[in-house]
Parts: sequence; structure tokens; C-alpha cells
Amino acid sequence: MIYKNNTLKHWGQTIRAVLLFVVLIGVSCKEAPKNGGTVAAKEALKVADQESEQTGTPLYRTSITATDIDFIRASDTDAFKSLAYVEQGAREMPGSESGELMDPGTFVFQVNFKEGKDIEIWAHSAFGTINAAKVYADKLGGRLGKLPLYMRNKLSHVVLHKGDSNAFAEDAGGFFVLYSENMDERISTNDLEETVFHEAVHVAFDLAHAKSKEWKEAQKNDGVFITEYAQSRPEKEDLAESAIFVYTKLTHPGRLDDKVVQWMETNIPNRLVYIEDLFEKTNKK
Ligand SMILES: [Zn+2]
Repeated sequence: MIYKNNTLKHWGQTIRAVLLFVVLIGVSCKEAPKNGGTVAAKEALKVADQESEQTGTPLYRTSITATDIDFIRASDTDAFKSLAYVEQGAREMPGSESGELMDPGTFVFQVNFKEGKDIEIWAHSAFGTINAAKVYADKLGGRLGKLPLYMRNKLSHVVLHKGDSNAFAEDAGGFFVLYSENMDERISTNDLEETVFHEAVHVAFDLAHAKSKEWKEAQKNDGVFITEYAQSRPEKEDLAESAIFVYTKLTHPGRLDDKVVQWMETNIPNRLVYIEDLFEKTNKK
């Protein structure tokens, strides 16, 4: 009825339009899930999980930036009490852009917690003013307050630089180093709490455990690493990479997918027990 008065030309246009519509639908059905990243991404993850279960390869590339797991949430309670400016003075500031170790004008802040010792935050003079430095010291205070007490008490101070390099820890010196732009980036992906935790693990546990006979034996018996990063630096990163998973399993198990927990129990049972013991022992101190 609709086409009663249409000419042949109109029919041709209609058919072409219908064909184009069909082609477009066909393309979008194929492309949408891939680009949308939902169904196809989940399938890919499932395949990756199965593959890693079968081949004993790591579960993730890295623990913090390559996962969507919010191990420690910004809204979690913390022991932060207050932050105060102390002085401007000379401090050793490794990792500075200039390469100079000594910074004569470091802005020094002190963080107080509801329990445990105070921690100093040393912000490089390159921040320029007390207020500019304090913006970043403020971003750190509550996150330090989320650390387990034992780990926080092992920290002597934290070094803050302007810039966007990756954080690193100096276990023997009892401190770690963060960069302002990298902090903002990690905040934007809910990863700064985990970064602080990771670096604090290096400070609190590496010296006594990361190269210990028992840890190495656990690594050998498990034979598999939870992340590629841990696998690439077994004596340096495996403990810190594994610890965030085990800590979350102990404190907020619901934040880990069942599949992740099962993977840990199947693939790294010895290190799971090792780190659980470590947190349980140090929790009592
Ligand atoms: Zn590390």
C-alpha cells in the first residue's frame, strides 16, 4: 500500500537504503562490543584467565596499573589526624630532576596520626612555595593513614618531587619517593592508595623477607608469579606485588573476584601463607 504510487526509481532508492541499513547494522554488531569493551573484553579476560591457569603464566601485567581492582579505597577509614608545616631546610632528596642529592630548601611537613609515630613529608624546593608543596603533602596524609600500623611505623619519611616519574622506595633508608604528576595520575585512576601501600611494603618488609631463604623457597615451590612485573624482578618486586592481593584478601576479600582468589590459592599457595603470616604477626606488634 505504501509503495502504490512509487516509481521504479523510488523503488531502487528504497532498496539501496535498506541494503545500506542492513550493512551498517551488520558492521555495528561486529564492532560495537569490541569498541564498547564490555562483552568482548570480558570474554578476552576469561580466555586470558583460562590461559594463565593452564600455562602457569602471571595473572596480570602489574598489580596496580594493569588491574581495575580498587584494593584500598579512598573512602576507607584511616588514622590521619593532622598535617603541619615544620620548616624549610636542607634534606637529602634522591630522584630529583637536577640530579642533586642535597636540596637546601626542602619544605618539611609533619603528619600526625591517631595512633603510631609521626611521619615527615619532605617536598623539594622546586615546588616553589609552602602552599604549592602542601597541596601534595595533603594528598598523601590520609593515604599514609590507611597503611597498616606496623608498615607506617617503619617509614622514616616520604620524599615528594615535582614531575611525573614512577614512585620508588629506598628500603635501607626507610623512605619512598613520589612525583607530583604521577600522584595526580594515580589519584585519577584510584591507584594512589595502592602505590603508597606498594612502596611501604618495600620499606617495611623487603630487607628482612624479599631475599630470605623461606621466601625464595616459597617462590620455588609455587613456580608462578602473580604479575609479570613480579616475575621480571623476583627478588625486588614479587613480595610487594603479591602483598597487595594478600592484604586485600585478608582485609576486604569481597574486593577480589572469586577467580582471583582461586588463582592465588591454586598457583601461589606458599607465598599466600607466607604473606598472611607476615600480616598476622606484624598486626599484633
Ligand atoms: Zn615496587
